[in-house]
Formats: sequence, structure tokens, C-alpha cells
Amino acid sequence: MQKIKMTTPIVELDGDEMTRHIWAWIKEILIEPYVDLKSEYYDLGLVNREKTADKITVDAANAIKKYGVGVKCATITPNAQRVKEYNLSQMWRSPNGTVRAILDGTVFRAPIMVDGITPYIPTWTKPITIARHAYGDIYKDVEGYVARGGKAKLVIEDSDGEREIEIFDYSKTGGVVMGMHNTDKSISSFARSCFNYALDTRQSLWFAAKDTISKTYDHRFKDIFAEIFNAEYKEKFENAGIEYFYTLIDDAVARVIRSEGGMIWACKNYDGDVMSDMVATAFGSLAMMTSVLVSPEGNYEYEAAHGTVTRHYYRFLKGEETSTNPVATIYAWSGGLRKRGQLDGISELCEFADRLEKATVDTIESGLMTGDLAAIYKGKSQATKLNTVDFLKEIAKRLD
Ligand code: NAP
Ligand code: MG
Repeated sequence: MQKIKMTTPIVELDGDEMTRHIWAWIKEILIEPYVDLKSEYYDLGLVNREKTADKITVDAANAIKKYGVGVKCATITPNAQRVKEYNLSQMWRSPNGTVRAILDGTVFRAPIMVDGITPYIPTWTKPITIARHAYGDIYKDVEGYVARGGKAKLVIEDSDGEREIEIFDYSKTGGVVMGMHNTDKSISSFARSCFNYALDTRQSLWFAAKDTISKTYDHRFKDIFAEIFNAEYKEKFENAGIEYFYTLIDDAVARVIRSEGGMIWACKNYDGDVMSDMVATAFGSLAMMTSVLVSPEGNYEYEAAHGTVTRHYYRFLKGEETSTNPVATIYAWSGGLRKRGQLDGISELCEFADRLEKATVDTIESGLMTGDLAAIYKGKSQATKLNTVDFLKEIAKRLD
């Protein structure tokens, strides 16, 4: 069989622990036998991040900027315990944070749906994609405690001069105060990423905030989305047969629950944090959530939404058999290869990505799956729990 040729390399960001092994197995069993893989490899494993003083992460992000498409394995974000475990010279930053800061993107998360893994909301027959604004608001706030008798004021200095707004007079009781911000630039990037992704995936876009209460802050988000949509995207959406609308966050929640899915729900930073966990749980499993970072310039980084599955890794190191779910990581590869195929006009690569995803879903629907799914599977066939490698080999059988 002739392998599919690539013209531009895909940027490959390797990672840590159980997912690092899964990464190698996926390449060996499901990619390299079929695709003449052209990749620019960056080892973001913690050992190499330490060795390169984390320069490798910055280089990888710049390579994604250069080539347009990256695929990332899950990586350890070091904490105090990891500093000891890996004898680190520093508590290196989260690689996802570093890549996001360089690409300035929006993260889109969507569940992979299979028959037999039923969402808790029975009307959800199509995936719901959450687009989370990954900058500002309470994640970059300043906070303080104000003692009884104190006062908190907001001072703004800009080209209009200096204004002072009283926030609260704490004369009767002490309390808390918070200051947070966002920027027109970041909100505009967020809006463009959402509009582009909606066109890319041909799904309607919903955006929701609380502009009735937050008449300047949240209203600014609503206005920027509306301005950019009307100026740059309205016609494109009409041609694609999809819609964009803004609604209040409470209305959006009610509509999403009653919907059949199949839309992109754009959320402010905090709303996105909470709602993506809710959607992931309601669809069944974190191991079945895909994640893609889309930059406003049109660069893409695909990954799984879960981490390095440390608990399984320690069992693996002791020689025990592991049944870690590789599906979201397979979809990171298929997503990246499909995008590469689209950008380079290689239809065979796009078709391979489709077949890889179909073979994965077919394997599960035939009753063969990893332990996490076997525990919740209610399909037509009897669920058989396989270890990770045997599961990948079953997918390969269906690809052949
Ligand atoms: P995790 O790796 O997502 O795993 C948490 C638990 O969820 C696992 O112990 C497992 O439950 C279940 N799980 C997650 N993915 C699974 C899969 N593919 N197959 C089967 N079960 C799965 O999160 P964590 O343990 O909190 O974090 C571990 C490391 O990952 C940390 O060092 C963290 O920094 C890193 N992390 C990286 C990313 C990223 O790179 N994007 C994201 C999150 C976390 P059971 O043990 O009950 O089977
Ligand atoms: Mg969260």
C-alpha cells in the first residue's frame, strides 16, 4: 500500500507520562503505517523542558506560527511535588499557558460522541462545542479586603483625564473588593477566532454574557462581537447557512439544555471554565473531549482535553496492564492531519483523518473499548475491556 505523502510538516509536541507512551503507540500503530509522516518534532517532556530551560516550549509555539498546525501531547504542569520528583531548577510555567500566550488563541472543546455512551441530557444528539475566552477577567484580577470604616474607589486615568468612582462605602461592615480587566484587542481576537471556527466547522455560534447587569464591561464584549460580525462575517455566515446570535447567559443556559446540540457556545473566561466542565461531564467522559486552540491569524494546535493520567502511569511503571483511553489523543492527530490536508490541498490526508475517526468510533460501537468507557457503556454489544495497545490494534484492523 502506498503511504500518503505530506508537503508541509506538522508540528509535533511530545509530552509526559502515560500520554507520552500513548503518543508513541498511536504513531506506530495508527499513523506511520498509512502516512509518510512529515513532522517537526519538539520534545516538551518535563525532562527536556528542564534541559532547555523551557526554550523548547517557546520554539514549538513559534514553529506552530510558522507552519500553521501543531499536535500536542498532554504535559505535566509542574507544582512543588513535581519540582522534587524531577529535580527541577524552577517551577516551569504551564506549556499550554506559554503556547497560548504566544499564539493568542481561543480554546474550543467538543465531545466525541459514540452510540452506547449516552449524554445525561437525552436531547443532546450532537456535540456542543464550548469556546472559552482564555484571557483576563477574574483570572487576572486584583483583590483586597477592606476593613470596617474603609472605602474602595475605582480610579481611571486615560486621555479623558482622571475619574474616581466610589465602589463601596464600608462604614457599617468590612468586606471584599475586586478589580478586573479585559482589552479590546483580546476580545476582538476572541470574536474572530469564534467566527472563523464556526465557518470552519459549519456550526452556528452563540455568545452569551450579562450585559443587562454589566452595562459597560459585558456590554463591550457584546458590541465588539456585533461590530466584527456585521463588518466581516455576516455574508460568509449567510452563505454557509449558519447563524450568529447574542443572548443573555441565563437564557443561553436554558436554551442549551433544551437544544439538540450541534452549536458553538462562546463563553467569557469564567463561564467557559465552568460550562466546559459541565458539558464534558454531561457527555460522559473527559477522555472523550477534544480540544483545539485557534489563533486569530489562523494557526491551530490540537490536543486532548485530559492530562497525563499520572495514576495509570505509576501502575504502568510497576508493570501492570493499563487501559488508558487514547481516543482524544487520536482525535488530536486526526484533527491536525485533516487541517494540514486542507491547508495543503491533500484530500487523501483529509480522508485518512475521517477514516481514522470512523475506525475509532466503530471499534467502540462494536463493543471493544478501554476500561473507563466499558464502565459506562450501554450499547447493543457486550462491552469488552481492552488494554490501550490492543484497543489501538483493533482500530488498525478496521483501518486496513
Ligand atoms: P488527568 O491526567 O486528566 O487524569 C485525572 C483522572 O481522570 C485519571 O486519573 C483518570 O481517572 C481519568 N482520566 C483522564 N484521562 C483519562 C484517559 N485518557 N483514560 C482513562 N482515564 C482518564 O488529570 P490529573 O491527574 O489531574 O493530572 C495529571 C497531570 O496532567 C498533571 O501533572 C497535570 O499538570 C497534567 N495536565 C495536563 C494537561 C494538558 O497538558 N493539557 C491538562 C490537565 C492536566 P482514574 O484514575 O479514576 O482512572
Ligand atoms: Mg475548570
